[in-house]
Amino acid sequence: MNRREVLCGLPAGALLGGLLPGAVAAEEKAAPSKGRPRLKIADITTILTAPNKIRLVVVKVTTSEPGLYGLGCATFTQRAYTVQTAVEKYLKPLLIGRDPDEIEDIWQSSYVSSYWRNGPVLFNAMSGVDMALWDIKGKRAGMPVYQLLGGKCRFAAELYRHVRGNDVKEVEDGVRKALADGYRHVRVQVAIPGQATYGAAASIEEPKAPAVSEPTHPEYVWEPAKYVRAVPKLFEHLRSTVGDDVELLHDVHERISPSQAIQLCKDLEKYRLFFLEDPLSPEDKDHFAHLRAQTSIPLAMGELFNTQQEYLPLIAGRLIDFIRIHISQIGGLSMARKVAALCEFFGVKTAWHGPGDVSPVGHAAGLHLELASHNFGIHEGSLFSPDTRAVFPGCPEVKNGYLYANDSPGFGIDIDEKLAAKFPFPDSPTFDHRWGGTRRRDGTVIRP
Ligand SMILES: [Mg+2]
Repeated sequence: MNRREVLCGLPAGALLGGLLPGAVAAEEKAAPSKGRPRLKIADITTILTAPNKIRLVVVKVTTSEPGLYGLGCATFTQRAYTVQTAVEKYLKPLLIGRDPDEIEDIWQSSYVSSYWRNGPVLFNAMSGVDMALWDIKGKRAGMPVYQLLGGKCRFAAELYRHVRGNDVKEVEDGVRKALADGYRHVRVQVAIPGQATYGAAASIEEPKAPAVSEPTHPEYVWEPAKYVRAVPKLFEHLRSTVGDDVELLHDVHERISPSQAIQLCKDLEKYRLFFLEDPLSPEDKDHFAHLRAQTSIPLAMGELFNTQQEYLPLIAGRLIDFIRIHISQIGGLSMARKVAALCEFFGVKTAWHGPGDVSPVGHAAGLHLELASHNFGIHEGSLFSPDTRAVFPGCPEVKNGYLYANDSPGFGIDIDEKLAAKFPFPDSPTFDHRWGGTRRRDGTVIRP
């Protein structure tokens, strides 16, 4: 009896009720992928390393085929040890023995495995496994992952450099240096005198690791009105000195009210930004409809989002221009490729969050998706230090303002575990407690 005859003999409703006979299920389960032996996940480990003093979490999935393994990024640097626990104590026992080819099913079953879901810890843990499985599939196919995603749409990914300064002149000098180094896109941040300002070099900078942060004697003070008045002056200076050809970006990093965001956009409009990032906090995201209605400035948003319930309305409502999601924060490449495809249909471009707390493995995974996405917008630049490059052989290369992937199978990146162990996590709680220390002058916490 063949499979069709077996199915025809079932009582009505059996399939709808999920009552597939065990014999048929077993028969299908035993069939290997055409031409490839069936594999099993043999082990899942986490590698903690900080070659650039930033805590990175990398997941390694090994298979039953000797020497075949994959790497994924699970870096939630502020809660790195909780991600390690989620991988080793919860996902590993769930996934040992599973077929590494079943990436989508492993994602879906991991997603509901703790019943409560959508949190950054589980999603980062899942991302580490998910990316590693794509890496394995690419190695098995003998292809770079961008080939599995549809092939290259471009030869490399344009990326932007971060420039900051104590005053507008310092920022101008930094922009000129970036242009001389081949960049065409620069994110610019300037210090506000006397304030703790995000992304700026200043005498009073963002708190590194306040021992005690209390509302009754705020130490790191930041006032939104002063900032909203200062930023247009930076852009006026830059356009009048470095000209119109350079693409300029700016990160508000939330912090201001919806009405201040509207005013800031109106004041910045004539300076033709490439994008304005995070003008509102996630808690105020419903105000994007008002902001979109009043400005033509390209809006970028998303690095704090975890779930589709948060970003879907902004994409489907055509309320933003660039999606800025942190790929490991939404569960890895499997979810990111769906988001990228969704965004294409709504005219939204990708600008995945890519600062120093995305590991080179995460940058490589994002880069492979960017190479295969028609609606790629920009890659957030990260210059990999010599130590980082040594720990991660095959690290993407920055040349003339572009980020290049290599053509090795998988993500084309590896990790030297012995060398990685020479860069243990720093003891300083800098990244554990950094956020939440900046306050208004009356002591009110600023949402970062
Ligand atoms: Mg940002």
